[in-house]
Amino acid sequence: MSLGTADLRPLESYVRGQWVRGAGSGQVLRDAATGAAVARIDASGIDFAEVLAHGRTKGGPALRAMTFHQRAGLLKDLAKLLMDAKEEFYALSSATGATRTDGWIDIEGGIGTLFAYSSLGRRQLPNTHLLIDGDPESLAKDGSFAGQHILAPLEGAAVHINAFNFPCWGMLEKLAPTLLAGMPALVKPASQTAYLTELMVRHIIDSGILPEGALQLVCGSVGDLLDHVTCQDVVTFTGSAATGRRLRTHQRIVDASVRFTMEADSLNAAILGPDAGPGSEEFDLFVREVVREMTVKAGQKCTAIRRVLVPRGACEAVISALGARLGKTSLGNPAEEGVRMGPLASLTQREEVRARIALLRTEAELAYGHPDKVAVVSGDPDRGAFLNPVLLYCDKPASSTTVHEVEAFGPVATVLPYDTLEEAVELARRGGGSLVASVFTNDATVAREAVAGLAPWHGRVMIGNRASAKTSTGHGSPLPVLIHGGPGRAGGGEEMGGVRGVTHFLQRCAVQGAPDLVTAVAGRWIRGAATRSDGVHPFRKSLAEIEIGDQLITGTRTVTLEDIEHFAEFTGDTFYAHMDEAAAKANPFFDGRVAHGYFVVSVAAGLFVQPDPGPVLANYGVDNLRFLTPVYPGDTLQVALTCKEINPREGADYGEVRWDATVTNQNGAVVAQYDVLTLVAKTWP
Ligand code: NDP
Repeated sequence: MSLGTADLRPLESYVRGQWVRGAGSGQVLRDAATGAAVARIDASGIDFAEVLAHGRTKGGPALRAMTFHQRAGLLKDLAKLLMDAKEEFYALSSATGATRTDGWIDIEGGIGTLFAYSSLGRRQLPNTHLLIDGDPESLAKDGSFAGQHILAPLEGAAVHINAFNFPCWGMLEKLAPTLLAGMPALVKPASQTAYLTELMVRHIIDSGILPEGALQLVCGSVGDLLDHVTCQDVVTFTGSAATGRRLRTHQRIVDASVRFTMEADSLNAAILGPDAGPGSEEFDLFVREVVREMTVKAGQKCTAIRRVLVPRGACEAVISALGARLGKTSLGNPAEEGVRMGPLASLTQREEVRARIALLRTEAELAYGHPDKVAVVSGDPDRGAFLNPVLLYCDKPASSTTVHEVEAFGPVATVLPYDTLEEAVELARRGGGSLVASVFTNDATVAREAVAGLAPWHGRVMIGNRASAKTSTGHGSPLPVLIHGGPGRAGGGEEMGGVRGVTHFLQRCAVQGAPDLVTAVAGRWIRGAATRSDGVHPFRKSLAEIEIGDQLITGTRTVTLEDIEHFAEFTGDTFYAHMDEAAAKANPFFDGRVAHGYFVVSVAAGLFVQPDPGPVLANYGVDNLRFLTPVYPGDTLQVALTCKEINPREGADYGEVRWDATVTNQNGAVVAQYDVLTLVAKTWP
């Protein structure tokens, strides 16, 4: 690190297979706490049309040649690689103003997202190139025409324009679903903290884990990049609402209907429930959470609590408790011991936050702290972008506007009193659409009423109470498996949310045609498609031998009253419909005693199973089990078992086979239908 700027290392962009420097001298980036120069940033001279083309023609095809499981494997390798190098990232992270805890959210939180997507890719997605979306639709009475939604990777590049506050997580939370989907990414970090993103990308590129073109990085302005995007590209944006609006309405984005996901300013609220008075556990949890949200990352979190909604009578107690805790927040250079909160990302950012506080003060008074008085335990108070926590109080929130509209992106929150829960919810909605709200209550009615009013206006609602106090991930933590985004002011976008996040980079396509052809396209057998019976029991076939459409038509079994009574006694399931003729008859669905559904399923297994040791290793469950027609004593059952889908597992000597099981009676009526899920060896001697 250098105080001068003459010998500063310029950040490089990784484009078209090489690290390049901008043509100009660029902008100097400074350590948030000391003001020392860290790097220069400039991306002038880069041909962005060529960069996009490189991603589309090199990275895209290489990624799409892999299956979802293979790409999930890449994510795991990346996660392990970055975890091994994490201390390097922490060391540089303090220059962004981040304490170790802040860095943990950014660095290990980001790496955790890679791990999470790797895991869900292997658990929840098939080992294929296309995804099947939902069930097939029969479109002709004679079954000769059907439809099936599929999801296919887009053929463009995903442009990720990220914010300064999470140089690692911001990249990785978008990169994970993008790569898993099979799309190459072009990452553009915010200039202020791009040096940390650059370091991480260097590790990724040097490792050779990703195919060339799968990841490109632009450090600096992206110039005319958006002029070259097409309908096959995706643009995601995180940052200020003003920039987001400008980019979203970029002529090219509009003309080519480019998918655009935006996550911007959000005036997130936390509501202290009317039941959670001073002295309650929820009151303490609420106070702790508000302070945490104000001080972690010095409040520079898109999900941070900006509006603190409190029953009017509890405001004094809340302000006093918040003040007491905020007073213990030592502000200083995050590289040094004992510092709980670091500076803002830059002096410019501090000026911005102070200007926003000034706006808020037109409607709210200072309740704790002062924006112009800086007290630090370490670091340079003049060169560092330090700002102590500032708590405001707005007495008339219903008739105020600024407190609901101006986001001071720092350790700043405003306490707003409310008189009824309905009013609290209404005030939270005045944020105009937010990423998250939280409600601290131990009352189920309060939770239900609050969430009903908050849900249409929020991407996430967290309920805090004593039961989840130890395990709650908190108000401010977006999670890979849950969506992150929100309506209105929050940008209208949605990120992550497990597999949902992957689908943002896939095109949904309704495929229509004859069942045979739809089966061939989607890789999943649908009713009406051809079946094959070659005399070999399908359970005798290894993964290498079995084919979609292989079918077994079993022998039959006639169900007797003794069977039903034996099953009832054996299992203890003596429900009246099986045991009491008069009561069963009185039931609107039955004409008398019926067989247990589970007996039918068990009998079906008895009919279709081939008992000898063989390639079928285990039955790990059934999906979509439905009992469609009652089975009476004297009915004769038969099963058609058809191989529906085959999924070899990467790195294992087995795979999953999904079977369609259709159980019919002597009249051909379907009595039960389900998918049987088995593990089958890839080869069998
Ligand atoms: P900006 O909106 O200015 O920047 C966000 C990203 O957009 C950066 O990567 C930036 O790059 C890039 N960008 C800016 N202009 C263009 C353009 N014309 N074309 C393409 N990319 C562009 O936000 P800031 O980072 O400056 O933060 C400003 C405010 O935004 C904060 O004070 C805060 O209020 C809010 N914010 C909200 C966040 C949220 O998630 N809710 C997160 C971060 C910020 P570059 O840095 O190189 O200009």
